[in-house]
Amino acid sequence: MLPKTILGFGLSKSCIRELAAYGARRKAEIGADRVFDFSLGNPSIPAPPCVEEAIRDLLKLDSIQLHGYTAATGIPSLRKAIAADLQKRFGLPAREDLIYVTCGAAAGLAICMHALLLPGEEVIAFAPFFPEYRMFTEGVGGKLVTVPPTEGLQPDLEALERSISEKTKLVIVNTPNNPSGVILSEESLQKLAGILHAAELRYGHPIYLISDEPYRELVYDGQKVPCVLHYYDNAILDYSYSKSLSLPGERIGYLAVSARMEDAATIFAAICGGGRVCGFVNAPSLMQRVIERCIDQTSDISIYKSNRDLLYDGLKELGFDCVYPDGAFYLFVKTPEPDAKAFAERAKKHELLLVPSDDFGVPGYVRIAYCVSEDQIRRSMPAFRKLAEEYGLC
Ligand code: PLP
Repeated sequence: MLPKTILGFGLSKSCIRELAAYGARRKAEIGADRVFDFSLGNPSIPAPPCVEEAIRDLLKLDSIQLHGYTAATGIPSLRKAIAADLQKRFGLPAREDLIYVTCGAAAGLAICMHALLLPGEEVIAFAPFFPEYRMFTEGVGGKLVTVPPTEGLQPDLEALERSISEKTKLVIVNTPNNPSGVILSEESLQKLAGILHAAELRYGHPIYLISDEPYRELVYDGQKVPCVLHYYDNAILDYSYSKSLSLPGERIGYLAVSARMEDAATIFAAICGGGRVCGFVNAPSLMQRVIERCIDQTSDISIYKSNRDLLYDGLKELGFDCVYPDGAFYLFVKTPEPDAKAFAERAKKHELLLVPSDDFGVPGYVRIAYCVSEDQIRRSMPAFRKLAEEYGLC
């Protein structure tokens, strides 16, 4: 006998990965430049020069020291640098002893689920949501409760109020959002905090808020992502350098427990336990040192902004109904027929690889990852035009 839930996750196919694999086969068949692959959220711009400089410089260090185990929570000087960075940028009372360096945001979420959830307890996520939330929750015997969005794809806070029960232990927000690019406004965060606080009083136990923020730095038009730790005390920030420094394969990020959380030290201890249960041991040693040296840098985000403008304006002109993305590198487009999978299949006939929204918990959209070359976006426009014409949009 095998654990059924876990086996199920292994057997079930990720729609995004399947599409990317199809893309790889198709590129081999007809040539890479004839396939318009918008499937994966893999950064398309290089890491900033400081990353390479740091790696080259670090390789001069003693190899035993450089590649050895680090403290499970992370190298002390890096934890200190992260806390100082949070303090500087958000004016937060961040504490280095509440920073846990992770193998990326996915690891941070998995650790939190192990640390905070008892079997049968509920995690609330706002649709559209990152599909892996389901694995992380159900993998520890929790239940994922999803809240459908408002018309404009904002989190529906009235629906949230109706979804909270005495079993609710955790709420996840993801801002900017994958797949919609929507940023949670200050006003929404304040309202959300009020709802959660009232529910805590009603049920007599804490409800933790995790802010999943791997796209925090990918914002455009002077937008800023309000920091949840200002609005709610029982909050944990889940951050990653995968997107901001274009290092997704290197697996590095952190969890920051709010210094204002009443039982912060206990929750931090549970997080350390969660990391051990998951067998992470420590985040990659070389990368921890790289991050310490590049803490306030990002890749050249302006390239994503010009891609967004090109794609958004181009598709609007063709008659597609698009959600305007304030951040991240995804465009969420309403499908002209209700079945997103059927629409994505038709798009494939024009060599356009778009991810249907069903796995993100909402029907009737496709996600277009615009972390691709500008050239790909320009060359794909005639194919989008043909698709739009098939649906009578232009
Ligand atoms: N959360 C969201 C919303 C994501 O889109 C991703 C990755 O795409 C992750 C978490 C995981 O990021 P990481 O590469 O840091 O594990």
